[in-house]
Amino acid sequence: MDKLVHGTAADGTVRIMAAISTDIVKEAVRRHETSPTVSAALGRVLTGTLLLGSSLKDFDRLTVKIESDGAIKGIVAEANAEGRVRGYVKNPHAELPPNDDGKFDVKGIIGEGMFYVIRESGYEIGLHREPYVGSVPIISGEIAEDFAYYLAKSEQIPSAVLLGVLLQNQEPFVTASGGVMIQMMPGANEHIITIIEDTIRRAPHITSVINNGATPKELVKFALGEIDFEILEEKEIEFACNCSFERAVSLISSLGKKEVEAMLEEDKGAKMTCGFCNELYTLDENDLRKML
Ligand SMILES: [Zn+2]
Repeated sequence: MDKLVHGTAADGTVRIMAAISTDIVKEAVRRHETSPTVSAALGRVLTGTLLLGSSLKDFDRLTVKIESDGAIKGIVAEANAEGRVRGYVKNPHAELPPNDDGKFDVKGIIGEGMFYVIRESGYEIGLHREPYVGSVPIISGEIAEDFAYYLAKSEQIPSAVLLGVLLQNQEPFVTASGGVMIQMMPGANEHIITIIEDTIRRAPHITSVINNGATPKELVKFALGEIDFEILEEKEIEFACNCSFERAVSLISSLGKKEVEAMLEEDKGAKMTCGFCNELYTLDENDLRKML
């Protein structure tokens, strides 16, 4: 199962999160049947959302939402404090030729727009607190830089973020996925920041390290070089949705008696697809009659 670690370095002035998310992205791609470039974009956002979530205290639900004018149109990822994430894109089949470096043109498929972070708490215990919403314009479209820009601008935390998804032509398509997020807290000294920047600049691409079997802890080492660090927590992470047949039934019954009768008469049943995970729920005549 995929894992995420978070820890500290340099006397607590540096916070670091790292995750291997290969299985999560495989599952997202299988469910949404995304094109290769969309898979890379969605995978980076799912991983970045989990990393961002693990740096926050006191939230039940963290949503990262991109609304943009590129062919993908938009991406939504939602993580909870337990390390479960789900997400979707508006146009899963959008595709573009590779960019000038021969890489997936994630920037091109995203285009220009806004990057939102929505943090909700009290949700799980039935309290409805006003959600915290932060937003910045998309400055890169390559996703990792956009997470870093959001952290710097909206949360005043200078950060380095690396996110990568490696794909192949046949199933299961995704061969490696993961990321690292390094946050400089107040008091982080310039010397440490320079070492981290140099280490990241000289390092091989993160996906090749993951593809060679790196653990999340090894990803931390990859990003911090010779700086000592301490891992505070390791947890399992997964693609999981909270939809269910019961929820589908209650949603359809909330449409009202007339609607349900019409479905029964015209379609002899009803179908509902969960937007987040693409699971299809089929209700037959009996299910609809029970409702009435
Ligand atoms: Zn679902």
